[in-house]
Amino acid sequence: MKPIIGITSNLDSTAHTLQNTYIQAVITGGGIPFVIPTGVESDVQQITALIDGLIVSGGGDMNPVLFNEEPVPQLGNVTPERDSNELKLVTHMLEADKPILGICRGHQVLNVALGGTLYQDINSQIASPVLQHDQKAKREHPSHAIHIEKGTILESITTSEKIMVNSFHHQALKEIPSPLIVSGKSSDGIVEAVESTDHHFVVGVQWHPEALLQNEDQVSMRLFEAYMKACVERMVAVESY
Ligand code: MN
Repeated sequence: MKPIIGITSNLDSTAHTLQNTYIQAVITGGGIPFVIPTGVESDVQQITALIDGLIVSGGGDMNPVLFNEEPVPQLGNVTPERDSNELKLVTHMLEADKPILGICRGHQVLNVALGGTLYQDINSQIASPVLQHDQKAKREHPSHAIHIEKGTILESITTSEKIMVNSFHHQALKEIPSPLIVSGKSSDGIVEAVESTDHHFVVGVQWHPEALLQNEDQVSMRLFEAYMKACVERMVAVESY
């Protein structure tokens, strides 16, 4: 049995969208992709029961109201209905202890769902010099390095203290609540990866491994494989009750 992986999607004015790279990453990793639209908040309990894992995908900015802040001028597009839909999905998946992989915006959603806060715009809100985190190169190009914390799930996947990642964000994690811990940082101190110490597999990454996979990036391949493996382990655990 393959795990069924829910992937959240973006909502623009007329359409739900999701980059094909997410779908391909799940198929390549050994799962069945299942796209979740915005607007299903009242049914998240049933959806959570259906899926074996959740990938919270990338997208626009989170509404700063969600972490008790007013918008700064540099805030980009927000989609409040997507925020609330994803926050509810993440909360239910955490309760069920089913694996979550948060990617870019999804990494930020994970942090906010647990009570954390964000920098609305790193370029204007962080005093120290900040790297280029909104790269101009193509999506599969790894542009900056990150340093991996020893003893983390991420380190067991990367098997390296330093990896190269792509970068398409101007927001970042600020306060990180327990049970999340920082598992990866860029050289300018931006939190590029987190994971839960209280769940089977709950990982957030600020970069886009599904895009790096287009170049057959080995760390990204292992990340999706480790995630699918965790989903299968939880499937077996739930079935054996
Ligand atoms: Mn970055």
